[in-house]
Amino acid sequence: MTDEVSAANQADLERRLRELSFLERIVRVSASTLTHAALLRTIIDETIAATGTQVCSLYLWEESEKVFTLTATNGLAQWGVGQVKLGLGEGVTGWVGAQQKPLSIRDVRSEPRFTWVPNLDQEQFVSMLSVPIISRDRVVGVMNVQTTEDHDFSDEEIAFVSAIAGQLAGIIELSQLHERAARQLELERKAVASLTALNAGKSDLLSMLSHDFRGPLSIAKSYVHGLMSRLTGDEREACEEIDSELEILEKMVDNLMLSLQLEAQHALVLDLEELDLAELVRAQARRVERISAVHHVTIEVNAACEVRVDRSKIQAVLVNLLGNAIKYSPKGGAIRVRVDRQAEVVEVSVTDQGIGIDEREAASLFARYGRGDKALEHGIRGHGLGLFICKQIVEAHDGHIYARKVHGGSCFAFTLPLAETEKGRHQLTSER
Ligand code: ADP
Repeated sequence: MTDEVSAANQADLERRLRELSFLERIVRVSASTLTHAALLRTIIDETIAATGTQVCSLYLWEESEKVFTLTATNGLAQWGVGQVKLGLGEGVTGWVGAQQKPLSIRDVRSEPRFTWVPNLDQEQFVSMLSVPIISRDRVVGVMNVQTTEDHDFSDEEIAFVSAIAGQLAGIIELSQLHERAARQLELERKAVASLTALNAGKSDLLSMLSHDFRGPLSIAKSYVHGLMSRLTGDEREACEEIDSELEILEKMVDNLMLSLQLEAQHALVLDLEELDLAELVRAQARRVERISAVHHVTIEVNAACEVRVDRSKIQAVLVNLLGNAIKYSPKGGAIRVRVDRQAEVVEVSVTDQGIGIDEREAASLFARYGRGDKALEHGIRGHGLGLFICKQIVEAHDGHIYARKVHGGSCFAFTLPLAETEKGRHQLTSER
């Protein structure tokens, strides 16, 4: 009795030892850089070596299709990998998956549950042991071992293969997760690469457009100016009309460029310099005044205002606000431009006597493609890009931009921080 117990203990110990050394090899392999397919291949090779069988096949459960798919085999025809699929309960594999228990078959030729798949080379095998691979109470696959000779799988062998399958569950799940993550990463890498290429394309387009549009525009403008100085009456008026249309076209091109630049770079690149904002406003206001005969532009400046800004971008803000003041006052009227130097900031405001705005939609006018109801009611054409760009530019300079309704029109204003040197000087002035 004692001898029997110690023999059983010895066999048990040997089995545990085989199991452990098998696992030790698999864990070592799975920790190496092998791919999912290579890992599965090693698992089945190690399994036939450890069990003394001739073939091992792994079917893994695919939740999306609700089938067990032949994922690795070292004895069946390789074409079947990824192709042979068995539903829950279908064939021996499906049966083991559904029942969640092992099935040992002495001779598959007389087993009604066995499914013969043409050209899969199953004919050469006689006996078969099929065990479920279960992870956290869920069947994640089925492992089959087969022999070419007639073989009766003992309880011990069934326990051994089941133990291997039990240990494999976690490794397979982890490896599948890893494979999925790698596939996802690859997809994202491709997406980033194509976006980068797209962005590079956009930047090229940007510089091409900026060159190709601006060039002819400025040539056309200088010809028109030259003609205008020599013409009188109706002909001069026609030239003025062309000039103001060119001015609109120029503003549209500038807005389009800035909007493309924003999309391609996600942020504006500023080329900062210190300048007198009042001077810049004066120059732009004079330029605008020339465009329209029915608008009267006045400029009020309370002091010189040194700011550190990107000249061309702040110019674009002024062109947009002044251009809008004209465009949205179709009947003409006064346009009042104020440069108001305060303690830390300077405020520039443009007030017109035009169609006005609805106070409730003031903030939404600065959104991309934002357009007001009144503009639509009056049938004034636009794209809702100018104020959006102004907001990006002003905020990139740490300033604010806003709109308010005023009696008989509207007021669009923005602030910019004064240059550091200016702030101190202003305080001294106000203390005196
Ligand atoms: P666009 O003029 O091309 O539509 P903007 O972004 O410059 O684009 O202006 C957005 C909207 O803000 C305009 O469609 C208009 O509804 C409103 N808006 C802008 N300026 C004025 C203004 N001076 N008076 C009235 N509404 C204005």
